[in-house]
Amino acid sequence: MIVVMQAGSEEQQIEAVLERLREYHLRGHLVRGEERTVIGVVGAAIPPTLKEELAHFAGVKETLRITQPYKLVSRELRPTDTIVDVRGVKVGGGSCVVVAGPCAVESEAQIMATARAVRDAGATMLRGGAFKPRSSPYTFRGMGEDALRLLAQAREETGLPIVTEVMTPNDVDLVARYADLLQIGARNMQNYQLLEEVGRSGMPVLLKRGLSATIEEWLLSAEYVLAQGNPNVILCERGIRTFETATRNTMDLNAVALAKRRTHLPVLIDPSHGTGKWYLVPPLALAGIAAGADGMIVEVHPDPDRARSDGAQSLSCENFAALMPKIHAVAAALGRTPMVEVPER
Ligand code: PEP
Ligand code: MN
Repeated sequence: MIVVMQAGSEEQQIEAVLERLREYHLRGHLVRGEERTVIGVVGAAIPPTLKEELAHFAGVKETLRITQPYKLVSRELRPTDTIVDVRGVKVGGGSCVVVAGPCAVESEAQIMATARAVRDAGATMLRGGAFKPRSSPYTFRGMGEDALRLLAQAREETGLPIVTEVMTPNDVDLVARYADLLQIGARNMQNYQLLEEVGRSGMPVLLKRGLSATIEEWLLSAEYVLAQGNPNVILCERGIRTFETATRNTMDLNAVALAKRRTHLPVLIDPSHGTGKWYLVPPLALAGIAAGADGMIVEVHPDPDRARSDGAQSLSCENFAALMPKIHAVAAALGRTPMVEVPER
């Protein structure tokens, strides 16, 4: 349910509504927008009479039911785009951020070379896996904390904020000490304890869509983070499982356009995991921006043929640099704002 306050309502009137919610053991999430102040009411048992009861409170304009099962992430609650600030990089609201870097951090030389190359090409953030969720336990599973230290070193030199995955609730504190944006991988989209832990951390979260998750399940997972009082969630469409085997996954561009309509949260695309093939990354990257994505996360490796994970879908530094001006051209054609200028080349 949403309680819409009258323009110019007083603090004590807002507090009176919140106090009544507490009496019912419900939570009120205050959303102060430019146009209106609303209170999102969430809880397991909202009394059927509450909508009518609060409608008569002083300072209340109206009370509305939220029709979707997710509440705090819904555009019904907050019609304007949420902008998530990741160490100064603003994601959402018509942004076109490009997060780039290797699937996994493999060595100091590899991450530093990639960081410099993607920064020079105009990337706005650096990615790199430290804890890797791998389908086989016999493949490279990441360098752990050593990789986190190397990412911090790369940030120090390039100024790029860093994104890396956290796989367990126990690791949230550790990863949050280094990272600027915590990635929840597709395989963990429904790890509800992990979602609550990153929610409590207050850190910006990049929530990837599960391999076979519906859009509603994806948004309900985001709801877990917001329900902990953390509004800093960025969604990421990374391809879903379909009957098709010619590509690794199927980039669901419907999901990008629909998520932008249903939620106020920023939406990124991951055309690397979305296709599984480096030569399909550029066309799908451009299509994703055209479909309304607020940017993308792309795998880039200085020597893709020797990558320890996801080489087949990684762009070389040269191919990434060639793609950037095209991304900015599509974004500009749609009236979007690239976060940095494309360097002359
Ligand atoms: C990754 O970003 O390298 C990754 C493992 O992504 P996903 O969780 O989408 O498979
Ligand atoms: Mn990967």
